Amino acid sequence: MPKKKISKEKSIRRTKRLTELAICAVLLVGGGICVKGMVDRSNTVSTNSYKDKAEVEVTDPTEVTTEEFDPNKIIYTSKAVKTKDKFAGNLILVNNDHQYFTNGNEDLVSIYDANVERGLEECFSTVDNTYSIRRDTYGPMADMIKAFYDQYHLNTLVIYGSYRTTAFQQQLYDADLAETGSEESVRVAKPGFSEHETGYAFDFSLYYDDHYADYDGTGDYSWFNGNCWKYGFILRYPENKTDVTKFQYEPWHFRYVGVPHAFYMAKNGICLEEYEQLVEQHPYSGEHLEFTVDGGKHMEVYFVASDDGSEETMVPVPSGYKYEISGNNSTGFIVTVYKDEKAEPEAAETQPASQPETQAETAPAEETQPQE
Ligand SMILES: [Zn+2]
Repeated sequence: MPKKKISKEKSIRRTKRLTELAICAVLLVGGGICVKGMVDRSNTVSTNSYKDKAEVEVTDPTEVTTEEFDPNKIIYTSKAVKTKDKFAGNLILVNNDHQYFTNGNEDLVSIYDANVERGLEECFSTVDNTYSIRRDTYGPMADMIKAFYDQYHLNTLVIYGSYRTTAFQQQLYDADLAETGSEESVRVAKPGFSEHETGYAFDFSLYYDDHYADYDGTGDYSWFNGNCWKYGFILRYPENKTDVTKFQYEPWHFRYVGVPHAFYMAKNGICLEEYEQLVEQHPYSGEHLEFTVDGGKHMEVYFVASDDGSEETMVPVPSGYKYEISGNNSTGFIVTVYKDEKAEPEAAETQPASQPETQAETAPAEETQPQE
């Protein structure tokens, strides 16, 4: 079955503003400056019930109180994020129930060109030079494959599926239906509903002895199953989760979500659908999801519902710490806090899922894949 799917791909290839106020009390103690932002639905100022319970409540935003400066305590400020950006980011859930809405900012790179640039042609290849993937996914993907290559000296890996336009996905879907005579496919996603349209996913195949072979993630290749989280990837359609993903087991399909999230899912044996649900149960106002990634990085993850009546959603973010914001593609935003890493002032501003409009011109859409 997979082989047929793969050969089809090959042949077709050829062819929230919250009503809340964000208020800052400036605390100057012992030379340390601590900016404290609070978000509360009642328009009064309260502290985050999660981390700041012990802190003094302030009712006048201009009031200055004194407080011990604690560099380990996370202080939150509010960041205005475009509400429509809940449909973008490395944690969006795309499946048969959740359509992908492109913003045209996939920021794709040619895998072939990038391999040449990095001198990785010997390491792995693509079926032809039309394959592209998100820039922020290519890097970790190439690093992962190179680590495998350095260890096993196997140059048999081929990227057989990567970014697809919706039109191309339509072709694959139609071909699969024609072949199976079925009205619904469990092996080719509906057009608009494939992770491949996001640019965050890729499929492996193998090529040796002048022929392609299915990648099944066994033998030496099982290295990827155990190590892909270190590069931010998950096996998106695990064998024991087909009842949740509603998709066949695909040992060859990897999805980029970022290292901490990939770690959590791998460690706890849950798939993306289950992880998204779990994170939604950890809102900003409640208990945040806290865990330590193997290697020692302390993480905090929480959910912020989108303000769908407004063009902007105010998202509480940690002041002074590295963080990332991603949409979940339906109900809001997921904030990822790297508790051991200080934010770089400019970097913090470029972190949100929102991407500047100017990137549109660097993100070719339709013409990156042949539509033969
Ligand atoms: Zn795939």
